[in-house]
Amino acid sequence: MAEEKKTTRKKIQASDLMNKIMADYFYDLNDAATTGRRKVAWCTSVGPAELLRAMGFAVHFPENHAAMLGATRMSTDMIPAANAIGYSPDICSYLTSDIGAFLKGVTPLSKAYKGIESVPKPDVLVFNTNQCRDVQDWLAWYSRRLNVPSIGVSSPKNVKDVTDAHIDDVALQIEALVPALEKISGARLDIDRLRETVSLSRECTELWKKVLETAASVPAPLTFFDGTIHMGPAVVLRGTQTAIDYYKVLLAELEQRNRDGEGAVEGESTRIYWEGMPIWGRLRQHSELFSHLRANVLASTYCSSWIFPSFDGRDPFRSMAKAYLELFIVRSDEFKEGYIKGMLEKFRIDGIVYHDAKTCPCNSNSRYGMPQRLEAETGVPSLVISGDLNDLRCVSDEQMKTNVEAFIEQITEGR
Ligand code: SF4
Repeated sequence: MAEEKKTTRKKIQASDLMNKIMADYFYDLNDAATTGRRKVAWCTSVGPAELLRAMGFAVHFPENHAAMLGATRMSTDMIPAANAIGYSPDICSYLTSDIGAFLKGVTPLSKAYKGIESVPKPDVLVFNTNQCRDVQDWLAWYSRRLNVPSIGVSSPKNVKDVTDAHIDDVALQIEALVPALEKISGARLDIDRLRETVSLSRECTELWKKVLETAASVPAPLTFFDGTIHMGPAVVLRGTQTAIDYYKVLLAELEQRNRDGEGAVEGESTRIYWEGMPIWGRLRQHSELFSHLRANVLASTYCSSWIFPSFDGRDPFRSMAKAYLELFIVRSDEFKEGYIKGMLEKFRIDGIVYHDAKTCPCNSNSRYGMPQRLEAETGVPSLVISGDLNDLRCVSDEQMKTNVEAFIEQITEGR
């Protein structure tokens, strides 16, 4: 049994600033919805947020709300309400917890932010199926329930190389959304504003990449568990100067930690890559589980999915299409394996943990032999854990603890 040392991860000082930025974002959304001063669009997390923002919409991200339901451990009680109206316990637990919360009339926003009573009522729902079909079904439910249009992009999947044909297809679909959005917003698209928004998203993405890459240092100054929280502005505020300003502050703090040789996990001795979704209701426990073993989960596919190197304000529609197609989740296993191999090298990884999330097959890459193939090629050992992003009934804490302890011990002894 590996010796446990009660170390925990160090607090990031920029957290307070981030909390303020996120609060401002939610109050702004609430203001837009309750006063009618601005139209509200709901957008899937990797949908055309830049277009919506450039057209003046206040943008709400249902997946962000669902992750909050998970992180506050409200989700498991919400899911049965969605199951009762025919949405299976086997489909996306973001979807079932979000719809369940709506049916029950509750939201973590009202607990976190005084004066906010509900999610902002949408004027339009916009999806991109690049991640999964569930997002379209999710917004379709709200469309029927609230009598609001749901429009979006149908994306190819399992793409090895992103070609011009793929980009043309998706770029045309994004452009085709404009007339409907103009009708709802009551204003014409200002192409210069769109260029500027895409450029701001590009800058945000570059800073977020630098933030994550600070973890290539030994010891790493941040953990995956920090990353899942600090990616908030990259998800909900990309395309704004606010997100850029925030990541400059966060980056400076992490670079200073690197100059000081200060790791996020004291005495870091094992470096882990996390493949798959976080288990939102167990972030703190998992952070402690690893750090007590002096293991740092320091890089992940999930946090890196908000890096979009192709955004280019000079060619907004095609570059958005390219960025949204190049996403890890859209790609073939061949591409994904090459990507993970690069990450193992860059971050000097000792072991991979694959999270097989019961209700998210699209983010569970351990089901078709990938761990075995990658281990054979790289020699980096892996562990598959069964769980779920939001449905804690699928999570076994004891099994997770036993398996992780044995895995870290195996890595340590193998040295
Ligand atoms: S990718 Fe997974 S978690 Fe995200 S919306 Fe789709 S099924 Fe849900």
